[in-house]
Amino acid sequence: MSSAATQPETLGFQTEITQLLDLMIHSLYSNKEIFLRELISNASDAADKLRFESITDDSLLEGDAELKITVDFDEKKKTVTIRDNGIGMSRQEVIDHIGTIAKSGTADFFKSLTGDNQKDAQLIGQFGVGFYSSFIVADKVTLTTRRAGLKAEEGVRWESDGKGEYTIEAVEKAERGTEIVLHLRKEAKEFANGYRLRNIIHTYSDHITLPVLLPQEGEEAEGYETVNSATALWARDKKDISDEEYNEFYKHISHDFEPPMARVHSKVEGKLEYTSLFYIPQRAPFDMWERDSRRGVKLYVKRVFIMDDAEQLLPPYLRFIRGIVDTNDLPLNISREILQHNQSIDKIKSASIKKILGMIEGLAKKDNYAEFWTQFGRVLKEGVIDDAANKERIAKLLRFSTTHENLEEQTVSLQDYVSRMQEKQDKIYYVVADNFNTAKSSPHLEVFRDKGIEVLLLSDQIDEWLASHLEEFDGKRLQSVSKGALDLGEIEDSEDKEKAEAVNEELAGLVTRMKELLEDLVKDVRITSRLSTSPACLVSEEHEMGAHMERLMKAAGQDIRTSKPILEINPKHPIVQRLDSEQDEDLFADWSRILFDQALLSEGGKLEDPAGFVHRLNEMFLSMTK
Ligand code: ADP
Ligand code: MG
Repeated sequence: MSSAATQPETLGFQTEITQLLDLMIHSLYSNKEIFLRELISNASDAADKLRFESITDDSLLEGDAELKITVDFDEKKKTVTIRDNGIGMSRQEVIDHIGTIAKSGTADFFKSLTGDNQKDAQLIGQFGVGFYSSFIVADKVTLTTRRAGLKAEEGVRWESDGKGEYTIEAVEKAERGTEIVLHLRKEAKEFANGYRLRNIIHTYSDHITLPVLLPQEGEEAEGYETVNSATALWARDKKDISDEEYNEFYKHISHDFEPPMARVHSKVEGKLEYTSLFYIPQRAPFDMWERDSRRGVKLYVKRVFIMDDAEQLLPPYLRFIRGIVDTNDLPLNISREILQHNQSIDKIKSASIKKILGMIEGLAKKDNYAEFWTQFGRVLKEGVIDDAANKERIAKLLRFSTTHENLEEQTVSLQDYVSRMQEKQDKIYYVVADNFNTAKSSPHLEVFRDKGIEVLLLSDQIDEWLASHLEEFDGKRLQSVSKGALDLGEIEDSEDKEKAEAVNEELAGLVTRMKELLEDLVKDVRITSRLSTSPACLVSEEHEMGAHMERLMKAAGQDIRTSKPILEINPKHPIVQRLDSEQDEDLFADWSRILFDQALLSEGGKLEDPAGFVHRLNEMFLSMTK
């Protein structure tokens, strides 16, 4: 008895899919024809997978090595059928791939939906529409498939109206691969038309490397004809490839819905021969922050697809890049393990990084670099830390918020900063905080604002690492304004220094009293000239981890020994002056503690005893009203 006789089983979609389908049908009604691009793209992927698997097991080809995609239609029955002889799917694969979205980050993606169709439509492009786009034009989809290597009776039929459930049953399927029948909705019946389908294939799928066939046209026509050019796009001459073709190819390999922001296509000849075609997406891939997110570059050997997201080809900080590398210098049966220790791959990798940095440099010369930076800047920053060889090149591509503009948008390059440096200034100053507003209003900036010295306002998680790895730019050291004693180098004149020393002597008694009181909380108390409006601030030692970094490491579960900060007080501030003459020891203690707590608060720190702070503050107010 063949299992083909079993009853169809009804199963439910993963909840997200129903949501996805709804959203898609609403957002893509004016762009219905992309369903064909998606299904042809999947068929092409299936052929690639078969080719790859057949390298080690050629029985999978079952004597039929001519891989192709056939598109059929029936005007009367209002159906369109897409057939491939690729890898096919087993029953479990159908359930896993067609009934669920296996992508990492799916849950986060759905959380990011706003419910506003217009906005979500853009997000959906970012997520990739894929197989479910069939339901934009079809009210019933029947997918019949058999995985290469399985027996004819191990075929599977999947059917759904896209309303939350599907049926699945065993069927006989003699030919390997997948057939998808779309039962068109009334308002989409126009697609059951040879002319229309041909046009769509031309527009969206010409670059597919295997033949896409349509029934021949004309009275006596029988059989099928190839309607795409079926050559690898990247192997063609650059000047013969239109922007549209490049863009459609991008959508195919990236599963993206929007055209890319930029591309770079290059052929290298000589000892090592390879072609690369890299793209920057318009928008950050939704899973860019997943640590194991796809690396997005496909590897081909002599036009034959070898593997997806070949992570050996690009470093993690370029994980948003999509594209292909095709080389003649690797064996077809190369494995991931071999790739890891392959000299050709290493060379291709370092050359590819240079190409990509060149492409980004091209964007940086244009007005809309801000768009790139908003989407990918935070990832690119990792390059300064990870890629010592290209550190300087990447540094020029960085953009920051600074006190020059005081805007949250990061637009200032280090070159801009250096060009505005004061005559005697020899360092690039920065402040790090948990967010932009805290950075912008940090008390540490006061003296810099007074003297008109620009300071970088850093508040991305990675920024403190970035600054410590960058070390210097254009020969100027990066210096945190909240570490070590204030050192303005040559900017400070000798008159200032003399004055400061006099003040130090004058307030030596106050400093000693405070130090004794706050012993448990601070390493030292000292007079500072970095403040003008605030009474006090906290600084850490030059070589120590900054307070911001400490908080990050703790949040990441690291067991960090908290280092005590140094409390610096502003001798010009009335509170500090008043404190110096305070005779009541209790009041003195309260004031001192309040100064410390305030300083901690203003750099975004958390008070150990917030209620105590409020209490002391209220006591102060009361003593003033007495
Ligand atoms: P994506 O192509 O981005 O993975 P899709 O929704 O287009 O997402 O497809 C989901 C999965 O279904 C594919 O990854 C693949 O595993 C499977 N699939 C879809 N179409 C085919 C096909 N024609 N042959 C074999 N597997 C397929
Ligand atoms: Mg797909």
